[in-house]
Amino acid sequence: MVKAVVGANWGDEGKGKITDMMATEADMVIRFQGGANAGHTIVNDYGKFALHTLPSGVFNQDVVNIIGNGVALNIPIFIKELKSVVEQGVPAPTIYVSDRAQMVMSYHIAFDAYEEERLAGKSFGSTKSGIAPFYSDKYAKIGIQVGELFSDEARLRERVENILVRKNVVLEHLYHKPALTVDEVMKELREYRDMIAPYVKDTAVLIGDALKEDKVILLEGQLGTLKDPDHGIYPMVTSSHTLAAFGAIGAGIPPYEIKEIVTVCKAYSSAVGAGAFVSEIFGEEADELRRRGGDGGEYGATTGRPRRMGWFDCVASKYGCKMQGATDVAFTVLDVLGYLDEIPVCVGYDVDGEVTTDFPMTSTLEKAKPVLQTLPGWKCDIRGIKNYEDLPENCRKYIEFVEEQIGYPITMVSNGPGREDIIYRKSPLKK
Ligand code: GDP
Repeated sequence: MVKAVVGANWGDEGKGKITDMMATEADMVIRFQGGANAGHTIVNDYGKFALHTLPSGVFNQDVVNIIGNGVALNIPIFIKELKSVVEQGVPAPTIYVSDRAQMVMSYHIAFDAYEEERLAGKSFGSTKSGIAPFYSDKYAKIGIQVGELFSDEARLRERVENILVRKNVVLEHLYHKPALTVDEVMKELREYRDMIAPYVKDTAVLIGDALKEDKVILLEGQLGTLKDPDHGIYPMVTSSHTLAAFGAIGAGIPPYEIKEIVTVCKAYSSAVGAGAFVSEIFGEEADELRRRGGDGGEYGATTGRPRRMGWFDCVASKYGCKMQGATDVAFTVLDVLGYLDEIPVCVGYDVDGEVTTDFPMTSTLEKAKPVLQTLPGWKCDIRGIKNYEDLPENCRKYIEFVEEQIGYPITMVSNGPGREDIIYRKSPLKK
């Protein structure tokens, strides 16, 4: 049984917490896309962790964790994160890296910084983790797979020579930086080989066996629908697919095996980086929500940057769930809204005087104005509540209103950052 945990919005929806919780009943957790550019924050019995690269199953001794072939693997960060988790008292997890995963090289990180520098004020707000240069190289067929580190060195050297011809033209003529040498890149690759050797496997075999044995496999996504390069707010997107459908490719699983798509949707909006954000709020209203948001404020897990804030966006979230193919919606961080007398919700987009509930492409999205509807707040702390019926009436009404607007079943409500802060709910939309 394969389940995917993915985001409906711009990322930071609380996928890490939901995956960590679901991992307690899983046999395998697989990261299938993205790199160390985004982070999950997880709070459990071992403490509080910001994971950038490790699958969220690392806290469960019975789980086999896999970095899938679709991931942008930064080997030094992988090793550092693994070490730091163990130093914080977590027993050494079982973790493997697909031999087909490709490596983020230090030149990818440098190119990311040079490009942001070139774009100056018009930058994308990249985290400078090398992700866009990495995926560009992958699809230009000049990336390097982890497994290549363990094959013929002459073959690898020849590939590096060829890669550097292209890299050096751009370095010298576009960015006016020193050229790379084959020897320095080969040295970096040898270092990576020694660091990653214990973890590399043909994970297709492991995954194939797990499927045959009907194990519970979780596919763990990064960011959310609106950052998908095809279906998101292009070009202000990430460079790998954030949709559950890509889980089949990024992990190496037949698409028909994905039976559950748990789509994580936050009870208000937040976004990082540039791009259209229709329900965005500003000033003191935004500052207060940012300060109270998440677990200790809405600041980037990787960069510490303050996140942009907004009211819940039914248009974006309906679309987010639709493109994921949500079978279940996990509605998170609802406890944060307990301070508000009234809660505005974006129920439509006004584009040139016409109201739509269909999420448009970026050029139209940039013109959209939010159509807001205000719901009454519940004015109390809902943390610790375990049963849906025990939530204040206005809180239930908020959830039910959102469910009706987005048209996908909210079967989980998260009312705190911990594993146990979850309320299961029977949804009328769940067949
Ligand atoms: P992810 O990338 O989707 O995993 O999201 P992040 O980890 O960046 O952001 C989610 C933040 O909200 C983290 O700090 C979580 O600990 C926290 N969080 C998750 N669920 C809840 C919740 O229901 N309530 C509160 N207050 N915080 C939550």
